[in-house]
Amino acid sequence: MNSPDQNPAQHPVLIADHLTKTYGSTTALGGVNLSLYAGESVAIMGPSGSGKTTLMHCLSGILTPDAGRVHLSLPQQQVEITSLNEERRAQLRREHLGFVFQEGLLLPELTAQENAALPLMLSGVPRAAAESHAQQWLSSLGLDGMFDRRLGELSGGQAQRVAIARAQIADPTVVFADEPTGALDSMTSDAVLTALLDSTVSRGRTLVLVTHDPQVAARCSRLIRVRDGHIVADERTHCSSNQEVTR
Ligand code: ADP
Ligand code: MG
Repeated sequence: MNSPDQNPAQHPVLIADHLTKTYGSTTALGGVNLSLYAGESVAIMGPSGSGKTTLMHCLSGILTPDAGRVHLSLPQQQVEITSLNEERRAQLRREHLGFVFQEGLLLPELTAQENAALPLMLSGVPRAAAESHAQQWLSSLGLDGMFDRRLGELSGGQAQRVAIARAQIADPTVVFADEPTGALDSMTSDAVLTALLDSTVSRGRTLVLVTHDPQVAARCSRLIRVRDGHIVADERTHCSSNQEVTR
């Protein structure tokens, strides 16, 4: 496997060192090495069951691998995620990582602004400040006038934008998205992906995105293919030139 050329002066944001994870006789991850950089949008593709979600969950501290390490480089500190206990990993995810899933996972009883504000409130930010910040994010994602709507009053694309606002509100270093456009039609998918790229990569953050959709992958700057728990291809796409400028 050829790793993409990197500017050696740039330090990776996230390093995975020989990650392994097995379930019974299934090898979900078979020793994965990976370095991710600021300003990258990384698409992860592969057949169903190839280990994409397991990889993303190990990279983000949702899951602990059986062996191997994950290092995260934060603005003020270096953290080895794999050495932290569950409580510290939860805190790290809340404060430094963002998540967008296929079905948004918004709380239906909360409004758009309450959903988006939730991570800040869980970190102790007062409600008024958290909701004001949520409104700024919702506005920037084209959701003016929808702050008080509940999940049932939003379209699929609007709900995913609320999920993006919630993922971004704590200014995470890395945003992880697992099939974020999987439930959307292609036009809505395109708009949501644009919102996701604009809110991460153009701000120098890193986006890691699992997708089955080659059109989604083509808009990312790097494409990683996974098969049977191994990375079998890792290449820069034509979008890389955008990203070089932001480095
Ligand atoms: P993908 O996201 O690429 O579809 P996953 O990472 O979800 O793949 O799964 C990789 C492999 O690990 C699959 O064979 C899956 O069945 C298995 N697996 C994942 N999670 C579990 C689990 N909690 N228990 C047992 N097997 C699992
Ligand atoms: Mg999956």
